[in-house]
Amino acid sequence: MSLADEHPDAAWSFDTLAVRAGHERSQFNEHSEALYLTSSFVFENAAQAAARFSGTEPGNVYARFSNPTVSTMQDRLAALEGAEACIATATGMAAILSTVMALMKSGEHIVSSRSIFGATQQLFGTILPRFGVDTRFVDQGTVEAFRAAMTPTTRLVFIETPSNPLTEVFDIAALAEVAHEGGALLVVDNCFCSPALQRPLTMGADLVIHSATKYLDGQGRVLGGAVCGAKALTEEVFKFLRTAGPTLSPFNAWVILKGLETLSVRMKAQSANALELAQWLEAQPGVTRVFYPGLASHPQHALAMRQQASGGAIVSFEVRGGREAAWRVVDNCRLLSITANLGDTKTTITHPASTTHGRISAEARTASGIGEGLLRIAVGLEAPADLKADLARGLG
Ligand SMILES: *Cc1c(COP(=O)(O)O)cnc(C)c1O
Repeated sequence: MSLADEHPDAAWSFDTLAVRAGHERSQFNEHSEALYLTSSFVFENAAQAAARFSGTEPGNVYARFSNPTVSTMQDRLAALEGAEACIATATGMAAILSTVMALMKSGEHIVSSRSIFGATQQLFGTILPRFGVDTRFVDQGTVEAFRAAMTPTTRLVFIETPSNPLTEVFDIAALAEVAHEGGALLVVDNCFCSPALQRPLTMGADLVIHSATKYLDGQGRVLGGAVCGAKALTEEVFKFLRTAGPTLSPFNAWVILKGLETLSVRMKAQSANALELAQWLEAQPGVTRVFYPGLASHPQHALAMRQQASGGAIVSFEVRGGREAAWRVVDNCRLLSITANLGDTKTTITHPASTTHGRISAEARTASGIGEGLLRIAVGLEAPADLKADLARGLG
């Protein structure tokens, strides 16, 4: 069955799906999507209760399993990722944990890029080994390095592209081939781009992970996550979720659902602001290097432009003078928010070496290229001129 058969909306373009997909009106015929704050659902009679519980009749039972508001959000995000199905989770980390718990068993391996979100690194590196699931971290982003790390027991190949904070870009199509040759699945954390800029499933990835906390909400309000892909895989994730409970709350689903409606325009505008800021930073004497996939100077610019619609909204840069100089930039910000979150309409600035990557050893940090002079900016919707003026104060 094609996607168009399953989702009648699939013929619509991305921007239309973002606003309309998955919406089913209740008996009140509301125009905006309803928020169903209910933990359980009532049955007509004992036989229906039995049928719903056994799954012979589809329908809502209990909100740990499903809720109409969450379902609408899932359907909309699935449509945007070009996925057969989507399972929403309480956070992005819950999406990653649920995927591993659903699809792996003791004795199997993960092959993962080294440059991944800090908590993902902790999960793979210190928690999963206690349950017999080990991860081989690949330091180099090349396809050959990934191929060399594969073992007969590799079940998942995991990447984040572009990566945090150095915006390293991984070749999704080529790594899907490596994973499939080895009998494994390619899982892509698509947090930095969102489906508005990059759709990994269309390039051969098997599952897409989201921290909906970031660009999908888009305004820094709620936590959420999602796993998108073929139904055969998301069904396994669902079985874990309905039993173990890292379910998305209906309220958070509703906020994210409304966030999806503006995702496309936000990503376009924030990417344009990021490009302007990256170009300006490259011209500043106090800046030694700028990391942004949209710049011609980025080592994987061509690959990034092949698999992303734009460079995205995360810009990192290295200032001359190490930690002292980097902190001076941060401490002179009056507009940029000093916070580690990203994906907000408000621009944020982070010093990775002393915050998000502060718990890893100095040697490991240096090995992964995160220097004391590195700063990461998640560009929002403010006027670029105001952002430049704010940064210029500390750079000068
Ligand atoms: C934030 C983030 C996560 C984790 O998401 P939470 O919603 O905070 O659990 C995972 N991956 C990436 C790339 C992130 O930025």
